[in-house]
Amino acid sequence: MIVSMEVGATEQQIKHVLSVVASYGYQSRVEPGEQRTVICVVGVGSAEKLSRAFQAVEVCDGVDHVVSITCSYKRVSREFKPSDSVVTVNGSVSIGGGQFAVIAGPCSVEGRGMLLQIAEAVKRDGANMLRGGAFKPRTSPYAFEGLGEEGLRLLAEAYGETGLPAVTEVMNPDDVALVCRHAHVLQIGCRNMQNNPLLDEVGRVKTPVLLKRHFAATIEEWLLAAERILKGGNPNVILCERGIRTCTEVTRFTLDVGAIVAAKQLSHLPIIADPSHPAGDRKYVPALARAAVAAGADGLIVEVHDNPERAKSDGKQSLTLSGFTRMMEQLQPEIALWKERYLLAHRTLALAG
Ligand code: PEP
Ligand code: MN
Repeated sequence: MIVSMEVGATEQQIKHVLSVVASYGYQSRVEPGEQRTVICVVGVGSAEKLSRAFQAVEVCDGVDHVVSITCSYKRVSREFKPSDSVVTVNGSVSIGGGQFAVIAGPCSVEGRGMLLQIAEAVKRDGANMLRGGAFKPRTSPYAFEGLGEEGLRLLAEAYGETGLPAVTEVMNPDDVALVCRHAHVLQIGCRNMQNNPLLDEVGRVKTPVLLKRHFAATIEEWLLAAERILKGGNPNVILCERGIRTCTEVTRFTLDVGAIVAAKQLSHLPIIADPSHPAGDRKYVPALARAAVAAGADGLIVEVHDNPERAKSDGKQSLTLSGFTRMMEQLQPEIALWKERYLLAHRTLALAG
């Protein structure tokens, strides 16, 4: 439930509400606003207990009104936190709340030379972070499954050379601590979106998590997976739409642009788009990237390779270095518009309320 305090409610009144909430075994978070303070309350319990807590809070001094959160996810919902969350990576790159970021790099880390070359190139073109899989979730058991720890060390080296924070997938809960030592964002791949032990483990750290939507997950299932990470104690979650399975055969998946729009309205978490995996072919990537930005995505994660024909995974959909340069040039007006729209919407909101 959300407790909206009266304008001018005192510290004492707020503290009293918090103690009433705690006496029912619920947790709360105080959101001070310009006008009034809002208290967000979550926890498990019977409908009857919730109703008793609701009634007890409603009559407290200084409480203006109380509303129930109606959706199944709480902490990630806009009802719970109306303002956009900003996730800051490594103290240097922010995503969300009007800040746009581009993550680029190879599907898999294949070696030192290629990684450093790609990292330097994407940095020159304006990328803010470097991607690269060290643990690769492949469909075929015969396919290249990544360099493992050696890949993580190379990502850390590329960070040392370029300053680009590293985004890399973690598949096994036992590897979370290891990946945190080398990388700056933990990617949960689409196939692991509902791997609850993994979600619980990344919920125990503070390293930002990039949570990809499974290709057959509803928006609610995706947001509930994010909820699990926040519930575990890690608020730094970035959602990522990467395409869903439909009846398409030309493209690999279907970029669900509507899901970007909906998730932005339903949740305060930043959301980025991966145009590479739905495209399946580099010739579709730039247009899908522009579509995602037009839909309001807070950033992009794009596969780029110095020699896509020889890539060990996802070569067909990887942009060449010059293809990435062109895409970034084409995106500039789109990103400028995105920023204008953001400022306009927030100025309008500020004037309205
Ligand atoms: C990837 O980013 O290379 C990847 C495997 O993505 P997804 O989990 O979306 O398939
Ligand atoms: Mn890939």
